[in-house]
Amino acid sequence: MSAPAPRPGILDISPYVGGEAHAPGVDRLIRLASNEGALGPSPRAVEAYRNAAAEVHRYPDGHSTALRDGLARLYGLDSARIVCGTGSDELLGLLTRSYAGPGDEVLYSTHGFLMYPISAKSVGATPVAAPETGLKADVDALLAHVTERTKIVFIANPNNPTGSFLTTDEMRRLHAGLPEHVVLVIDAAYAEYVDRPDYTAGAELVEEFANVVMTRTFSKIYALGGLRLGWAYCPPAIADVLNRVRGPFNVSSASQIAGVAAVEDQEFIERSRLHNDTWREWLAARLTELGLTVHPSIANFLLVSFANAASDGNQAAEAARQFLKSRGILVRQMGGYGLPHCLRISIGTEEEMRAVADAVAAFLKG
Ligand SMILES: *Cc1c(COP(=O)(O)O)cnc(C)c1O
Repeated sequence: MSAPAPRPGILDISPYVGGEAHAPGVDRLIRLASNEGALGPSPRAVEAYRNAAAEVHRYPDGHSTALRDGLARLYGLDSARIVCGTGSDELLGLLTRSYAGPGDEVLYSTHGFLMYPISAKSVGATPVAAPETGLKADVDALLAHVTERTKIVFIANPNNPTGSFLTTDEMRRLHAGLPEHVVLVIDAAYAEYVDRPDYTAGAELVEEFANVVMTRTFSKIYALGGLRLGWAYCPPAIADVLNRVRGPFNVSSASQIAGVAAVEDQEFIERSRLHNDTWREWLAARLTELGLTVHPSIANFLLVSFANAASDGNQAAEAARQFLKSRGILVRQMGGYGLPHCLRISIGTEEEMRAVADAVAAFLKG
């Protein structure tokens, strides 16, 4: 008997592989493979999550009202345009399902986030990757790859895994070159780490244009990845579409309650951002001194190239990863992103940063 056949495209998907979380025979793990906020979540969010246990027999608020209101207040947004989801992954998937299907194209840049081609294939659409220049999305290349079949353009800004970003002007130029029927999805998962005048997470573009969506997550600086919580800021018609296709109670009550508390604790977020600035620069300088190439990053991770560290950079990166793992330090391999000569290292605590720098130095000494 043969198994029932799924829809076209599904079996072309290579399942997403998350960062490693285990190393055999090691008691103390240093986990730098998934960009989870270095300081963990706000203690207030954890306390709120614990307190939520008393009410788990109740269905959640299907509109995530308190959370949307909290986000709207904090960022000066219109709560009616916010749609919450179980991680931004859910929202990226719902956007793809709503606006693309068989025969359509979903455009992203070569080293863009792997969930974009996965989302496209899951609805039978064709993922199209535009080349990058210097490991950064190239606006002209993206626009050159737009066809009448293009339905969605996904841009992570800043991008994972490269850490590069499009400036506000570049993002506006990309938008200006797109036909009106194409949805531009700005995935700003790392926006809270960025504090620079030439960067925008995209909220004002959402308010200005009918075809721009910004997605955000609680998995990175808020360090609540285990709760699966994200949100999208949308033009009203797109918010309406997402509210039709999402599950009626998609976000759990505990996640909503923890999310509200996390949003209220901006002092913690500010501390997390400053910590990240300090230790990202420290680690970048240390690894550069060791002879590695560290790509400039404005997020909470570094993309580190081993191409100049050995005659075979791919082999060196993999050997380094194994060496770190044997010392209980987990970092991300980049073969799936077409960067097998690189490793991606999340910014962790001071102790973790010193440990990873020492371990890389020991590896390079042989
Ligand atoms: C981590 C990450 C996300 C977040 O996904 P969640 O489903 O919210 O955990 C989204 N986009 C990019 C580019 C990321 O790196």
